Amino acid sequence: MASGYGTHSLSPSSWNNFEACPRKFWLSRQRLPRKTGMAAALGTAVHDSVEDLCNLDLEGRDDNETGWLPSMAKAILTRQWEDEREKFFKTPRHPKWKEDEFPGAQKQLIGALNILFKKAGYKQVSLSSITIAQWKDIQEMVLAAEGTLRSSCGRLMGRLDLLVADRDEEGNTIGWIVADLKTGKPPDDEVYDTVSRQLRLYRDLLIDNNPNHPKITAEGWYSKNSSVYVAEGPNVIDDALVAWEASQLTKEPFVATPNSKACGFCEWKAWCPEWPMAKARGELESHGTFRDYVVKIIKLEDDCSVGLVEIMRPLDELGNMVSTDQKYGVIFSGYAQDHIRKISDLDWQGPVFLGGVNVSGSSWKMGDWCDVLPWEPLLESKRDFN
Ligand code: SF4
Repeated sequence: MASGYGTHSLSPSSWNNFEACPRKFWLSRQRLPRKTGMAAALGTAVHDSVEDLCNLDLEGRDDNETGWLPSMAKAILTRQWEDEREKFFKTPRHPKWKEDEFPGAQKQLIGALNILFKKAGYKQVSLSSITIAQWKDIQEMVLAAEGTLRSSCGRLMGRLDLLVADRDEEGNTIGWIVADLKTGKPPDDEVYDTVSRQLRLYRDLLIDNNPNHPKITAEGWYSKNSSVYVAEGPNVIDDALVAWEASQLTKEPFVATPNSKACGFCEWKAWCPEWPMAKARGELESHGTFRDYVVKIIKLEDDCSVGLVEIMRPLDELGNMVSTDQKYGVIFSGYAQDHIRKISDLDWQGPVFLGGVNVSGSSWKMGDWCDVLPWEPLLESKRDFN
């Protein structure tokens, strides 16, 4: 295999991607048009708001003041929300922005702050009852808010959300807690394996970088219900270094390991010739209301609101596709209509990837949530390896 260019750093999320499907990891490094969604935007807005609140300059404020935190938290979240909205629209592939999710983000921020209150020993308090002095105390407990953790060799890295002092009943520091804030669904029982490994990687990087460290606990903080999950288990640094070695980029694509879980939410399908092959072999689930297809456009109305398409099936592993006799009418609206119009304007003659097609009715439906992209399997990296 050709050696990779430059030195890359492996983060917990890229490690998970690599493990889920090496091709998915490889495609994610090819500078293809990125995709984002509301969950990511909401998560970042909440994370950055917690960071801003932890770094708030309260110099000169009256220590006994109460009632300041709800409006401060809302103002900070509003600013972060607006920043995220701007980034969202600058990301080439995005669905519709849902402004009505702001109250949900606000609840998540309050959920995250409640965990901080508990960690500082303030139980069952409302935001409005927190005094300036109490928030200063919480700020003191927070040793770091948002930082990059890097192994001394530079091969492993991670974005640390919070490093807080672990306090006993008397308020004495007895250790460190490395916390990752999660705005997703809390687990039913234990933390998911991928999350546990991510948290342990942060823990183990901290251990390696701080020879005189106190006891370090790795925790997942789920803001949805203010629950805390501890990740326990062996050191993961050696495994991460093995993954780093294996994930050095090459000009040739990495092996693909199509499976329903990895392919289900893979954002690189329009460039991957492997999933249609796996689907044709019956190895991928093909039920449910929302499905992905590679199609030939047979006909489009002038305004591109309605079209007729034919499903294509794979001819070979290079991504060449051939027609089938299965034709469907499609109703395009929102961004799906904009994108199919762009493809038509460019006079793209090849197959088209349709992602997230609603197949529940007699005609297919495509809207803001869908991918409509030229089918362009990537069989060699476009990056410079010289
Ligand atoms: S579509 Fe499936 S096989 Fe292809 S890169 Fe994504 S996860 Fe891997």
